[in-house]
Amino acid sequence: MAKRRRGDTEIGDGGGVIKDKSRQAPSRVSRPAQPEDFSSNIFPSPHPRFSASSRVRPSKSLGQNFLINEGVVTKIIEALAPESDETIIEIGPGKGALTAQLLEKAGRVVAVEFDRNLIPLLQATFAARENLKLLAEDALAVDFCNVIQPATQARVVANLPYNIATAVLRRLIAQRSCLCELVLMLQREVVERITAAPGSKERGYLSVFVEAYCDTEKLFDVAPGSFRPVPKVWSSVVRLTPKPALDPELDEELLWQLVSAGFAQKRKTILNNLRSASGKLLEIIKRHGGASIILCRAEIDVQRRAETISLEEWLRLARTME
Ligand code: SAM
Repeated sequence: MAKRRRGDTEIGDGGGVIKDKSRQAPSRVSRPAQPEDFSSNIFPSPHPRFSASSRVRPSKSLGQNFLINEGVVTKIIEALAPESDETIIEIGPGKGALTAQLLEKAGRVVAVEFDRNLIPLLQATFAARENLKLLAEDALAVDFCNVIQPATQARVVANLPYNIATAVLRRLIAQRSCLCELVLMLQREVVERITAAPGSKERGYLSVFVEAYCDTEKLFDVAPGSFRPVPKVWSSVVRLTPKPALDPELDEELLWQLVSAGFAQKRKTILNNLRSASGKLLEIIKRHGGASIILCRAEIDVQRRAETISLEEWLRLARTME
């Protein structure tokens, strides 16, 4: 485990927390919070993170659906299987449902929580833990490779806020050079999209994007009753393992423009969607002879729809335009 340095803002050594001043969480000081009733939670004994002191009104805009089912917490932690010599990043620790078990097992936990109202609770709950680095920051702005230092690699676990889940996922993928595995709880429909194979009606831009950079494995579903407040939808836990880099010669920007144009209108054929491309992409397509020529060179039937096209075929299509 990494030795902590003087000045680190890790709780447990009396340190403060780093605050992101650029994007402050909404203040909820105007009226006293009504206690959320956790008396029905199924954790066996009262724990500070579910006691009166933890009664913070959940914020819908921050996607706060807190896990109250300890069986689910254990299943997620078992799927992650943290090692005593590794660093785990937790995004959105909330009231610490996952954090508690993580701190027991992992060498070090770097937790990034945007809601400053939850920070004092997390500090109090885990005051005795020396292996927690708590950052009051926005996961959409954090440089993950930087905050895990001195570690150079980390794994990520999160029950992601639904409203920013795909944005966070894209950010994690962008920083995958220092992230060797992601175990994420997302809305079930999002996991279905991420893991959708060619030919499935759920397949879209996100499926191809994630497949290009990660191996995916859906682990299990989680019922709405496992959270408070109870969400309207089911959740699923998925494991994403970053793959080796794509061909360094490939123009990835062009690839994603093509995929985006290809899925622009799901009922249209790939030919018609590419013919309707605009801007720089349209210019490049024209320079290479037009949509039907590039599809023909990539051996993709012009009448196919984008959701039937495999990652290999998208890559082939992008390469015809190099
Ligand atoms: N991990 C806790 C659990 O399972 O009970 C809380 C999960 S809750 C679905 C999502 C958490 O992400 C909340 O604590 C919320 O405040 C936090 N959050 C929301 N937006 C965030 C952001 N941009 N960066 C970091 N955390 C964020």
